[in-house]
Amino acid sequence: MKLLQDRIRRDGVIKSGNVLKVDSFLNHQMDIELLNEIGKEFKRIFEECSINKILTIEASGIGIACITAQYFKVPVVFAKKAQSINIDGAVYSAKIESFTHKKTYDVIVSKKFISSEDRILIIDDFLANGCALAGLIEIVRSAGASIEGIGIVIEKGFQSGGELIRNMGVKLESLAIVESMNAEDGSIEFRE
Ligand code: 5GP
Repeated sequence: MKLLQDRIRRDGVIKSGNVLKVDSFLNHQMDIELLNEIGKEFKRIFEECSINKILTIEASGIGIACITAQYFKVPVVFAKKAQSINIDGAVYSAKIESFTHKKTYDVIVSKKFISSEDRILIIDDFLANGCALAGLIEIVRSAGASIEGIGIVIEKGFQSGGELIRNMGVKLESLAIVESMNAEDGSIEFRE
């Protein structure tokens, strides 16, 4: 998505440790006009998938998922990061290792909000090593629901997540795939 690539080049900041900061337009301050274009693009890509729900993870995925959901006219469920899992069996859970914070936490979704009838589109802001997505996939599969597709705004193609998730046989589409980025000179290359 050219508009997104241009914006990343203009306003993205490359940090050490393979972190791309896009908090001036995506995950702190949010440019809603850009998010609308992102939502339309996800709609175009996943138009043929008959989804009835979008699943994301707090916090950065929520805004993107909500805007996308307006084009599909479906509800959004977001996985919550939990301090501890309650043991009454009312939630689906998975363990996720955070790429940016380097710690492991549990994410949960109430069993009330995903069932075996659901056809899910997963949406998230970034794909790095694929841990967050693997956790969301585990939750959907525990519920017996189907994954119709996965939409990512920015995939860092030089990290392992894209291959890991595509090898699971799910339709994964990223709007911008960063092939390489250099914190020293600020250069960034995209996969076409
Ligand atoms: P993964 O689980 O694929 O390793 O990492 C995905 C999650 O880590 C995303 O949900 C995102 O919040 C965060 N993340 C990973 N890499 C980056 C990055 O380069 N920049 C930002 N802002 N977040 C990232």
